[in-house]
Amino acid sequence: MQSVSPRAKSAAAPDLEASLLAYRSLLSQDLKLNMARGVPSAEQLSLSDALLGLPGPDDYRAADGTDCRNYMGQQGLPEARRLFAGVLGVPPENVVVEGNSSLALMHDCLAYACRAGVPDGDGPWQDVAGGIAFLCPVPGYDRHFKLCEAFGIRMIPVPLREDGPDLEMVRALVAQDRSIRGIWCVPKYSNPTGTVYSDEVIKALASMPAAAPDFRIFWDNAYALHHLGETEVEIANLAELCVAHGHANRALIFASTSKITYAGAGLGQFGSSTQNVAWYLRHASFRSVGPDKINQLRHVRFLKDEQGLKALMRQHRAILAPRFACVIETFESLLGDCDQVSWTTPSGGYFITLNVVPGTARRVVELCHNAGVMLTEAGAPFPGGVDPEDRTLRIAPSSPSLDQIGKAAHAIAVCTRFAAAEKVHGEVLLV
Ligand code: PLP
Repeated sequence: MQSVSPRAKSAAAPDLEASLLAYRSLLSQDLKLNMARGVPSAEQLSLSDALLGLPGPDDYRAADGTDCRNYMGQQGLPEARRLFAGVLGVPPENVVVEGNSSLALMHDCLAYACRAGVPDGDGPWQDVAGGIAFLCPVPGYDRHFKLCEAFGIRMIPVPLREDGPDLEMVRALVAQDRSIRGIWCVPKYSNPTGTVYSDEVIKALASMPAAAPDFRIFWDNAYALHHLGETEVEIANLAELCVAHGHANRALIFASTSKITYAGAGLGQFGSSTQNVAWYLRHASFRSVGPDKINQLRHVRFLKDEQGLKALMRQHRAILAPRFACVIETFESLLGDCDQVSWTTPSGGYFITLNVVPGTARRVVELCHNAGVMLTEAGAPFPGGVDPEDRTLRIAPSSPSLDQIGKAAHAIAVCTRFAAAEKVHGEVLLV
């Protein structure tokens, strides 16, 4: 559901002198803006401030009588698991609710797989001769790639198309190469492109033959409920499709309330097959004597049910949609005539991808930085931090105020034009 802005008919390279003047004027504004990381704004966090008073002084028992103040309950409260089962697409008994970070759950799954192996496998991933590899759809989420680096997992970039990763390439690689044990997927409103995987792609990922019997799909559905438009996009159920095609253990599904309630005090969730959940819980029990169940109870009291989750997300949308619209309108008005420049208009998620003139992304970041606007490093959405075309930038419009976002989008457009003009004229100007 990602779309690229239509190019103006008279697309051209920007004029060097005019671009330089615009950039000089930017420098004189002494800006201090941050569009680097996809964090919720204070306004969004405040939507959940009722959490601060919950569950209340005498409310610490879960529905089954569990005393949430105590140890145990590794899998999470049954009512918390029911709350998130629909988002993950598995029954509540196949849900684990944990601490505040889904990234931590992904880390732990990798750690357990590397140290001990996974169901269907033939031993720890760390013992595989020659090492293991993961497919990395690009542009993708930088922290997935950092996890691979941390665990010594080789990364194989795969182009992310309009409807998901390049299927032909994924199918061929996974079928032939036994060292490939996983693929990273952000299937809905992908970070950073806003891509939504089509049902056909999801079915193919669930059904394709794999050389490694313990091949896993790391299905990071971080933006499952994070719609920006009226249409609340639904995607196919990966877990059910994996079961239907005889690969019940293939899907490891992750989500969290980081961008629903509190980014630093929410709930991470993991959903998978019965065997994988048992595997996860066994290893998790070595790591902790149970999660923070008071926070789970607090979330259940506040969100109540899936309808409660969706209603809260509509309030987020009311705050976020104008911010995204502001960036896109600014790009349309200031970059619409710029040859080789395009951007995504996502229907959900937290990011806009700006494709600048090839060979100028790092320069745009540098120019923005010098003008007081922090952007995500160029190259971050690629394994090893290297964008082979040096053209993809991730713009995160959630956190600053609308006024600041307008200024930042203007600054990014000015820097994009200036870098494009420099490129065409073959010179880098010291401003
Ligand atoms: N997955 C994706 C795709 C993200 O974009 C982010 C945060 O930006 C995360 C995971 C982090 O999630 P959590 O806060 O649950 O660790």
